[in-house]
Amino acid sequence: MSNIGSKLQEVKRRMATACTAAGRNAEILTSVPALSAPASGSDRLILLAVSKTFPAEAVREAHAAGQQAFGENYVQEALAKIEALAELRAELQWHLIGPLQSNKTRAVAEVFDWVHSVDRLKVAQRLSEQRPAALAPLQVCLQVNISAEASKSGFMAAEVLAAAQAVAALPRLQLRGLMAIPEPAGDPGAQRLPHRALRELLAALNAQGLQLDTLSMGMSADLEAAVAEGATVVRVGTAIFGQR
Ligand SMILES: *Cc1c(COP(=O)(O)O)cnc(C)c1O
Repeated sequence: MSNIGSKLQEVKRRMATACTAAGRNAEILTSVPALSAPASGSDRLILLAVSKTFPAEAVREAHAAGQQAFGENYVQEALAKIEALAELRAELQWHLIGPLQSNKTRAVAEVFDWVHSVDRLKVAQRLSEQRPAALAPLQVCLQVNISAEASKSGFMAAEVLAAAQAVAALPRLQLRGLMAIPEPAGDPGAQRLPHRALRELLAALNAQGLQLDTLSMGMSADLEAAVAEGATVVRVGTAIFGQR
């Protein structure tokens, strides 16, 4: 098996072990199923392979090993990769997880399936206006600055409800949930706190009538903590593709 293939297996094993430890009976998936599939309360944990800085060939290798959902941070780099892999387009799901400037929204609305990093209403409005009618609504998460770091983008927790209500009303977007990149913490107990805060924030939104099913949290170093707190999507780069 290829190196990337065996790393993918190892990550999926980590995810399964973390589910068992947390008492979750989750199905581990390599892309997000279409929303039309009944969201019948079944627990799902999706692996998003973060391919930023790695070439199209690495994505091709991961796809050959069964991976379908890929996360990218930089719009220009992602567009080139998506183009290079055009013949696989129907089998791949592209997720933007990095910062999005207003002047790049059109390209993103035209080619991505998901955006996890919506951090301003203006960006959401532009994505909705620019999403082509022929495509399914763009699936989005609001990025939350869960550790309240001055250097990090994302809505503050207190702003999330109003933002979620505004984004949920946009016609060409489907608001699916919340995403966070917590401040790194060493021990697993400390790692769980921001993930728990994000889970509680999602529950509070749903208690206000929103219907959100996605908690995008957990990376190579803290996926176990995120899974224990209810992550539905983990975004894993280094543990699959190697050091950047
Ligand atoms: C790079 C990145 C990841 C993956 O991080 P690893 O530590 O390499 O697993 C996940 N989420 C975001 C937003 C990233 O920028």
